Amino acid sequence: MSPRSNTIVMKFGGTSMKDAETIRSSAQLAASTADGRPVVAVVSAMDQVTEHLLDLGDAAAADNRAAVYNLMAQVRSKHETAAKAIGNGAPASVDAMLDKLDRLVGGIAAVGELTARSKDAVVAFGEMLSTQLMGAAMSSGGGICKAFTGGQAGIVTNENHGKAEPLMDLSLFQLKQTLQPLLDKGERAVVSGFIAQTQHGVVTTLGRGGSDYTACILGAALNADEIWIWSDVDGLMTADPRTVPSAKLLAEITFAEAIEMGQFGAKSMHPLALEPAAEHGIPVRFRNTFNPKSAGTRIVPIQPTGDDGHPVKSIPLLKNAAVLTVGGAAMIGRPGTAAKVFDALAEARINIMMISQSVSEAGISLVIGKDQAERARAVLERMLMRPGLAKSVTLVEDVCALAVVGSGMAGHAGIAARVFGALAKSNINIIAIAQGSSELSISMVVSAGAAADAVRALHSEFIG
Ligand code: ASP
Ligand code: MG
Repeated sequence: MSPRSNTIVMKFGGTSMKDAETIRSSAQLAASTADGRPVVAVVSAMDQVTEHLLDLGDAAAADNRAAVYNLMAQVRSKHETAAKAIGNGAPASVDAMLDKLDRLVGGIAAVGELTARSKDAVVAFGEMLSTQLMGAAMSSGGGICKAFTGGQAGIVTNENHGKAEPLMDLSLFQLKQTLQPLLDKGERAVVSGFIAQTQHGVVTTLGRGGSDYTACILGAALNADEIWIWSDVDGLMTADPRTVPSAKLLAEITFAEAIEMGQFGAKSMHPLALEPAAEHGIPVRFRNTFNPKSAGTRIVPIQPTGDDGHPVKSIPLLKNAAVLTVGGAAMIGRPGTAAKVFDALAEARINIMMISQSVSEAGISLVIGKDQAERARAVLERMLMRPGLAKSVTLVEDVCALAVVGSGMAGHAGIAARVFGALAKSNINIIAIAQGSSELSISMVVSAGAAADAVRALHSEFIG
């Protein structure tokens, strides 16, 4: 591995790109917080713009003129207002881009269909526009800041529009070729998050929340010192402070722990976002644009301090879950039953968050989102009960899933006993339990009414 450069990649999310004022303060943070180290900024679309553009594409395809008019007017005024306030060439470039978007939307309306490819073309305007604004803001205090789309900077993907996968080696190589010489000259750069292009130059997107992924890809390409993800919270917490008032900010956790917490929605992240950083050993730091004094949460490959006496680092809670149990003696000792259950749900695009099966094999319990529960039950009834592979499919709604997460739990006896002891003391009934062999987390399902008490009981047991 080549030696680490001292570059800082900084990603600014939608809430840090809300209007001219927040964009200017984001540019200010890019200029002032890196202690003179080279900076590359990665930006999301302005707050809510991705949502508006998705609606705009749909409205255009349906030729719903009133909706197109309204959405276009909102997108236009939001960017024009910000551009005017930021100045420095932003109004002209933003206007030219909005005119292009207008023509694209007209074309979609004329054809009357929105393909995955044209949807990407529409939604990409969110990041293309915000990049122009950030570029103007970052260069208005003097100094050169060049603006690139993800594709222009060098990220190439396959043609899987909407959730395109980067051709990683090529992308890393090209990003370095584009950006390093400019950093070496003392210039700065801003790159659109979330968007990239195919090898034929067609615009693609990396999936919702993809700007974090872009930032980590850039960090890997430039062998950055750190990747900073600026948003509107201080970082990752030991628990949701609305549930546990004594919850603390986590100063440092490992990638494995962060990914485990992410599964529980501790921070809604693109599932692959951290991977390039983890793979190249580049620390990622979550920071708060509105509280830059806080150092945030640093995510590191391995914790240098080791076991700090807290085997459990955090207790994430996932609300609005449901437990589906597929039962029946026909499943016992019959290989392939679990595969059928998972296949059926995968085909229906239902995400399984937790699985448990007792050794008797008489039942498999699955935790899924409440909004998908009825559909999941119907699919399993059709695919497993009708052919006689299972006797029952029962659904328990109004439950929450929670977990204790921490790499210090691995190989330590007695953690599970403390978990269950703490819950028993608070009189909380556990509906289902799962622990992976990585021992990074123990997950439990409890009734929705008991969930907050369960998190508090575990927090006071392990963290205080
Ligand atoms: N603008 C995109 C989204 O809202 C990408 C991102 O913000 O990370 O999903
Ligand atoms: Mg957004």
